[in-house]
Amino acid sequence: MHYKDRVHNFSAGPASIPLEVLMQAKEELLNWQHSGSSVMELSHRSDPFMELHKSLFVNIRLLLDVPSDFTVLLLPGGARAQFAAVPLNILGDKALASYCVTGFWSNASANEALKYCKVDICHNERDTILPKPLWKLDPKAAYLHYCDNESISGLEFNEIPNFEAMPLVSDMTSSIFTKQLDFNKLDLVYAAAQKNFGIAGVTLVLVRNSLLNNVKHICPSVYDYNICASKDSMYNTPATFSWYITDLYLKWMKKQGGVLAMQKKARDRSERIYQLLDSDKFYNNSLSNEFRSRINIVFNLPSKDLDDLFVREAAKEGLSNLKGHKAQGGIRLSLYNATEEKSVLSMLDFMQEFKRKHG
Ligand code: PMP
Repeated sequence: MHYKDRVHNFSAGPASIPLEVLMQAKEELLNWQHSGSSVMELSHRSDPFMELHKSLFVNIRLLLDVPSDFTVLLLPGGARAQFAAVPLNILGDKALASYCVTGFWSNASANEALKYCKVDICHNERDTILPKPLWKLDPKAAYLHYCDNESISGLEFNEIPNFEAMPLVSDMTSSIFTKQLDFNKLDLVYAAAQKNFGIAGVTLVLVRNSLLNNVKHICPSVYDYNICASKDSMYNTPATFSWYITDLYLKWMKKQGGVLAMQKKARDRSERIYQLLDSDKFYNNSLSNEFRSRINIVFNLPSKDLDDLFVREAAKEGLSNLKGHKAQGGIRLSLYNATEEKSVLSMLDFMQEFKRKHG
């Protein structure tokens, strides 16, 4: 198969990888950095891998403009591991944490935290974000957790919900590297790599240093932020191939113009899609404009049969992975950092044509 035959992949995750990254990985698969081996066969302590390690952490700090009083960690276990690692690391001697529930993922993180502490649901309105005065924050909570972009229902915070009363934790699994971050408002950010900056197997954690040293003794060492920081995120053998792809992805992102370029791309293309959705009643996204995700765009057609037909017909045109999550139904169009402009244009054409035929 020639690379030109690749489909337009709109998967919610694992998501597409920039073609340049895949081509480079292919090129150096058997002999990485003149080592005579592939990267996945080399020791994580070898010189070339230590160079990769350095470049990865430098580029993360650079691209996200991470302040010096934050520690950067790359951990195993995906974002769901962080659902547990967050309370285990930062509850300290407090027994309560506040969770803002806006959809599936924030609900799942609150449920996981319940294993370790009491959970105060300070906001519980799925598919909407209530104005701040309506959040019922308990000052006894050790931190406030929210999900920046609910990847299943397509709901995104358009600004960081800053309360200043307690440390703020953000699950940015589907939105990191798609917008610039204000670290004055954030205390802990985590994100699995497989959507916007790499492949599964690596999870980024950015944690304010003042939150370190609160870890509970039951926290598994592989998720203990202090231990992992002291070992430069290599307490256990890192997922070397995932780190390698992430490194190439971040270098690609830098060449594209960094996070600002990703931010502009995410805004521009999502605006074009929403404009089409809103042009009449054929496609329907019921979320309020201000919470609509720039990353995961969900919509329904007038009937479930048409939803299914849309997915089938789109696949015939090479527009793949459009079926909504099983918890949500309908269509989900995921536009992550690696999504190419030509995929967006093909999608827009297809949507126009489908509406013309079936509307
Ligand atoms: N949070 C969000 C917002 C997600 O979209 C996902 C995965 N789709 C997760 C957490 C869980 O990530 P993982 O599968 O890496 O545990």
